[in-house]
Amino acid sequence: MKGKVAVVTGSSRGIGLAIARTLAKNGCRVVINSRSQERINSIASELQKHGLEITGIGADIQTKEGADQLIQGAIEKWGGVDILVNNAGINRDNLFLRMKEEEWDEVIQTNLKGMFHCTKASIRSMTRKKWGRIINISSVVGLTGNPGQANYSAAKAGIIGFTKTLAQEFGGRNITANVIAPGFIETEMTDQLSEKIKEQMLARIPLQRFGKGEDIAEMVKFLASEEAGYITGQVLIVDGGLAL
Ligand code: NAP
Repeated sequence: MKGKVAVVTGSSRGIGLAIARTLAKNGCRVVINSRSQERINSIASELQKHGLEITGIGADIQTKEGADQLIQGAIEKWGGVDILVNNAGINRDNLFLRMKEEEWDEVIQTNLKGMFHCTKASIRSMTRKKWGRIINISSVVGLTGNPGQANYSAAKAGIIGFTKTLAQEFGGRNITANVIAPGFIETEMTDQLSEKIKEQMLARIPLQRFGKGEDIAEMVKFLASEEAGYITGQVLIVDGGLAL
């Protein structure tokens, strides 16, 4: 992956940061991103101290302007985008009877429409090079549903249909598009859950531990590699067996 340019959305912490670090350690030039320019700059400079080729761009990928700013920034800095990891995501959980329209809209806008904007902004760079890897981070709840997450499950299921379509439209340009569906990964997002829910989740995981960002990053590394060039339109579940 030496010299490939990767953009990882939502990578100031958690899964995105683990993905960015792993890709950079494997020779990629990586653009990391979050909504805060200040935070992303300080993380980028910390990683640069370890000799990694990383730059930070603060941009809100919910909007076309934000996504364009991020992808154009990557193109201006390093001449194109080879690997796009659509990772940025939020949750606004509520039982359906109580779910507000704003909670629905916010989650769909970030988790699904943000992916549309970032992919739109990157795709021409990939088609020009006749090489590309699009890796979209969904969730096992996009496959199974989950009480309290009608908005999040809908967005995560939408990602799967979106990715399978991209795989068919861009296969002829040597661009692959795949989904990773993580299970329960220890990050700030899952920190918010009560101890009781965490215990219930753990009891359902055959491998008897929560996942780490690195577990997802290793799958991204593989899907982004030359060796994964004949895999497209797939949903790779990385969940310790949770969805079983
Ligand atoms: P996290 O710790 O909450 O990190 C989310 C990242 O996204 C942060 O860097 C955040 O930075 C950024 N972000 C949020 N909204 C953004 C926006 N509009 N524009 C740009 N950046 C934005 O979440 P995580 O647990 O690592 O999750 C990462 C992805 O994996 C998400 O798509 C999530 O749905 C998915 N996932 C997570 C789990 C899990 O168990 N953790 C399971 C399945 C799937 P700022 O807030 O500073 O903008």
